Amino acid sequence: MLKSRRLRLKRFFEEYSLQAILFTDLRNIRYLCGFSGSEGALLVSRDHAWFLCDSRYTAQAADEVQAAEVKECAAIRIDTIVALAHEFSLGRIGFEAAHTTVSAFRRMAEKLSSIELVELGPNLDEIRICKDDVEIEQLSMVATLSSLALTAVLPKIKPGVREVDIALALELEMRSRGAEGKAFDFIVASGERGAMPHGRASDKAIQSGEMVTIDFGALKDGYHSDETVTIACGKPENRAREIHSIVKTAHDLAIEAVRPGISCKELDEVARSYIRNKGYGDNFGHGLGHGVGLEIHEMPTLSPRSIDVLKEGMVVTIEPGIYIPGFGGVRIEDTVVVTGNSCRILTSADKQLLVL
Ligand code: ZN
Ligand code: ZN
Repeated sequence: MLKSRRLRLKRFFEEYSLQAILFTDLRNIRYLCGFSGSEGALLVSRDHAWFLCDSRYTAQAADEVQAAEVKECAAIRIDTIVALAHEFSLGRIGFEAAHTTVSAFRRMAEKLSSIELVELGPNLDEIRICKDDVEIEQLSMVATLSSLALTAVLPKIKPGVREVDIALALELEMRSRGAEGKAFDFIVASGERGAMPHGRASDKAIQSGEMVTIDFGALKDGYHSDETVTIACGKPENRAREIHSIVKTAHDLAIEAVRPGISCKELDEVARSYIRNKGYGDNFGHGLGHGVGLEIHEMPTLSPRSIDVLKEGMVVTIEPGIYIPGFGGVRIEDTVVVTGNSCRILTSADKQLLVL
């Protein structure tokens, strides 16, 4: 499996005439060799790979790293890279420019003066854009775990309960179901706070009749889930019901339109044009969605400016919303995997308007 992932590097070796690629981004390292620790580097040549770490990680690397030779670097890692480059004639090495700081690059360039370093841009991360079966299974599992955690927490949502209490209860439920942690700081935004698309849980107490937007996700085996529900705590105002219904229809229309070959821009427009025709075009400011995987936000991007096209195996969110300053907001989000002719929804919390 990991070897087949490395085949995705082939086009970079060819396009840039490289002898090796150096990875320091932990997500890419995990994807390509299985190492889940917090420090290391992976050097991949056309026919070999070396995982470099210090003594703190040697045992973990021996356990986790697949299809790569583990090399413990006693002193400075860059010296080991120089030695490998000379031993195996790796004269031209690509590196992840998008994940390298200027100072790290300067240090590397100084030490590797005999080697040509080639900047590989953010498109290197595209190797992870289409998920393989193992990843889809992991993303499916974490999505299910997270949706079940929400279902367990819903009965706790009552007038007087603070947004942070809900966020904490949700995290506890996720962890007790096997999550390593939360995928991001949950958004729990009630009443007027719902107008903030990224309103993190505050100590505000929820009032009767308020809408509550909960955007949540779990992290397991390095993979993230992402889902949003907007519920009503007690009988909502008619306008809130109407907005929920518009967002729900926009969400459903977009999910129905997901298929390989559709451009992400066109898919965004499916939801956006519906919301615009209902008179709320100015109240949907963000893109329709994003890729989810080893990062919570990764490629592709679903927005009016996107140049991406959906392909089978991509895992993306569909999350239209309407935000009205001084009133509140509604967002509904599911994570889906693009299949051969449509999509399968991985997240499973009910998206109908739930009145608690
Ligand atoms: Zn979300
Ligand atoms: Zn999202």
